[in-house]
Amino acid sequence: MQRCKQCESPVAKTDVNCVNCGDLVNSPVKSKTNFRQHFGKIVTGLFILSAALTVVALFTNYVGSFITLLATTIALLMVKKSADEMSSQQ
Ligand SMILES: [Zn+2]
Repeated sequence: MQRCKQCESPVAKTDVNCVNCGDLVNSPVKSKTNFRQHFGKIVTGLFILSAALTVVALFTNYVGSFITLLATTIALLMVKKSADEMSSQQ
């Protein structure tokens, strides 16, 4: 549970201002970090999905789509890597 820096009252993650004193609880820097973490999770999910589809394409004879999926998986791996580096810098 997050707490207000001014009055120590509990605030929800979605609250922009403290319910008790109206102080700004979620600064733009904080929400940017949350966005990065959220983005990282989406990329990881897409990467797993793409990797799974690549394996499926390997056992079916659609060679063209296999190459496309493999390229997508590699591209997502690169995006995931850079997203991980961005979040670890924080
Ligand atoms: Zn407060």
